[in-house]
Amino acid sequence: MSVFEHINGDGYEQVVYCSDDQSGLRAIIAIHSTALGPALGGTRFYPYDSEERALVDVLRLAKGMTYKAAAAGLDLGGGKAVIIGDPKRDKSEELLRAYGRFVESLGGRYITAEDVGTQLEDMDVVKRESRWVTGCSKTYGGSGDPSPVTAWGTVQGIRACCLEYFGDADLTGRSIAIQGVGKVGHALCGYLVEAGAKVTIADIDVDNLARAVRDFGVETVNLDEIHKVDVDVFAPCALGGVINDDTISELNCKIIAGSANNQLADDTHGDKLRDLGILYAPDFVINAGGLINVEDELRGYDRERAMKKVEGIYRGLQMIFTMARERNLSTARAAMEFAESRIRKISRIRLVRTAEYGPPTF
Ligand code: NAD
Repeated sequence: MSVFEHINGDGYEQVVYCSDDQSGLRAIIAIHSTALGPALGGTRFYPYDSEERALVDVLRLAKGMTYKAAAAGLDLGGGKAVIIGDPKRDKSEELLRAYGRFVESLGGRYITAEDVGTQLEDMDVVKRESRWVTGCSKTYGGSGDPSPVTAWGTVQGIRACCLEYFGDADLTGRSIAIQGVGKVGHALCGYLVEAGAKVTIADIDVDNLARAVRDFGVETVNLDEIHKVDVDVFAPCALGGVINDDTISELNCKIIAGSANNQLADDTHGDKLRDLGILYAPDFVINAGGLINVEDELRGYDRERAMKKVEGIYRGLQMIFTMARERNLSTARAAMEFAESRIRKISRIRLVRTAEYGPPTF
């Protein structure tokens, strides 16, 4: 396997392999771009069945972060890390701290956070060895669980979609189907019910389902029905790849707007949704609340400021919808171009030279 074969042609800057025999650490840190700022992205702890799969995953995820940060208007680049192993069996203080040493060694080019298989408490441990850690628990001055903030951003995105589709951002009386009422979906459900929407849910986890019914009195449908319900908005908040060759013809919604990552099985589904007249809120734009939230930690976390910044998702989506309309693009394609255009523009202004030396001392 040639690493260069994987990274050439897609603009990756750096891939770092981290190994520590004693603790069993085997990690890969991928920095896709630092054009807009340090590369921020979470650490995924996952039992990949081969080193190559881990590499492919970390590269894909790192590139996704570049687009997410750029579209959210942040001064951040894109990066990601994976630790190869079973988080339940292999995670230890020693391993996380060894990992922290490697993060620190990159001098701030890469900033980490939690992801699948890692939690706030793990970031607190990594932080003992590195300054370049976000997503820590509140006791350590961090922002705590990002999910409610991600949900808040998703609500703003749903409102922007309703404005685009119906000419009215008000959610009163809108019918919304949520797939997955976990950390984000549950909070989203609460915000939507409060806004007067009529919410239907499904979840594979009966406890999570029961919790949402108890807390908000919402309706439920079967797992394989939720994407077929005749609603204004379908909000995927569970898995990736839910819009695929099998499900796309079964949709009965006008809008798709949810927090799940990688909702489209592949790029062609973005075009197909446009052809079907379904408005799609690109996932990496509408679910950027979590990233915007941890970014705020870099300047001393302020929840109110973070929530305000997250409200910018509404405006970001409006710009993407306008671009898609004017250039006859799918919203998915428009979002990619929106992010690429910002990277180009901001990188260009940074060619203007600023001080390299201190002022004269005479
Ligand atoms: P979570 O694990 O807390 O919740 C996911 C929920 O989906 C669970 O209740 C689970 O039982 C349910 N689920 C799993 N398979 C399902 C299926 N087939 N049908 C219906 N429900 C199913 O995760 P989360 O943190 O709420 O994240 C939800 C999605 O949003 C994920 O795709 C995640 O990557 C994405 N996301 C989360 C954040 C965040 O801040 N947590 C930020 C950005 C993106």
